[in-house]
Amino acid sequence: MTASARGLGVQLAPPGSEPAGLGRFGEYGGRFVPETLVPALEELEREFRSAWSSEEFRAELAGLLASYAGRPTPVTECHRLSERLGVRVLLKREDLTHTGSHKINNVLGQALLTRRMGKQRVIAETGAGQHGVATATAAALFGLECLVFMGAVDVERQALNVFRMRLLGAEVVPVESGSATLKDAINEALRDWVATVETTHYCIGSVVGPHPYPWMVREFQRVVGDEAREQCRALLGGTDPDVVLACVGGGSNAIGTFAGFIDLPGVRLVGVEAGGRGLESGQHGSSVSRGVPGVLHGARSLFLQDEHGQILEAHSISAGLDYPGVGPEHAELAAAGRAEYANATDEEALEGFELLARTEGIVPALEPAHAIAWLAREAGRSIPKGATVLVTLSGRGDKDAEQVAERLGYDSFR
Ligand SMILES: *Cc1c(COP(=O)(O)O)cnc(C)c1O
Repeated sequence: MTASARGLGVQLAPPGSEPAGLGRFGEYGGRFVPETLVPALEELEREFRSAWSSEEFRAELAGLLASYAGRPTPVTECHRLSERLGVRVLLKREDLTHTGSHKINNVLGQALLTRRMGKQRVIAETGAGQHGVATATAAALFGLECLVFMGAVDVERQALNVFRMRLLGAEVVPVESGSATLKDAINEALRDWVATVETTHYCIGSVVGPHPYPWMVREFQRVVGDEAREQCRALLGGTDPDVVLACVGGGSNAIGTFAGFIDLPGVRLVGVEAGGRGLESGQHGSSVSRGVPGVLHGARSLFLQDEHGQILEAHSISAGLDYPGVGPEHAELAAAGRAEYANATDEEALEGFELLARTEGIVPALEPAHAIAWLAREAGRSIPKGATVLVTLSGRGDKDAEQVAERLGYDSFR
């Protein structure tokens, strides 16, 4: 009885609107890929569209999200942090999902599609390793072969997640080219896909890449925002939060969160990007604030580029925000003024990390620690005292413990 009640606890809201043309969000998005990939992207688009309107597919995904991923995740009211900041803080707890971040929501959807398309092998790129772990997990669950491309620098700084992927039966391929981080891992994954597209599904981990990925991944992540909207209404006596906040790497946890609130013009939507060592230093991941329009990884969006259009290296203390671009829908939301994009530096993120741990007993991943840090800075400034703020806590901080211990000078980690 309990098990089925929990299974029934996940209700997927009706599908959101489909982007026009070939995945256009205003002047952004589209499908800029080698000829060989076009049939696979068309097949994926067809399969996703039909699956997403199929009651059977949606019920199977809802069941997996409930019984395997642990949804719905709660919204937690943060009493001590609220008192400290003078605003009412609510957290959407994606850190409590199986594998520890929102990535599992998307991956379970794409694994079901892989099976529908009769493919036996999945490839993925990963930065912090959370998407790689989620993909390796789904591959184990579905009996699929799994190859994960990861920048050699990230392999080094996220050793725990590399071990988890290998334990789950995935092969991890360190990528040495370029800056040896996420952008280079995506390049390698695309290269592999061109050669193996008949048998392989490329499981992209954010709302980036060619159509249909930005749309499809948003739809798989909108469960975060749709759940949060209902949960906030229950908590707030039928009203909505004043501000909805999420960190932005490629932008999937943010767009999934925003999707639940976007039709409410009174709700202020804010995405927090990596400020790295400060925007003036040039070492950051703030592609909306500082990027220029261009085409990379199959789509037109905002990217960090030099005056010759060369892609610049991003920098962030958190591997998950260390990407020189952003999903096309965010570029359009920024252009339309519907969402704002701010940033928090490495140092501020470390403060946010400790602040949440000490006030609430919740250790966030470094990525959402950026959102916590921005909130701490803006409470009582651009966020009026007494306002209600929903923050999506995209993941938990276990993976970052060693790195943070070192940076904050805790004596010994081991
Ligand atoms: C991957 C990741 C991110 C960044 O990716 P988005 O697509 O921007 O959500 C943020 N937080 C966590 C915990 C992650 O694992």
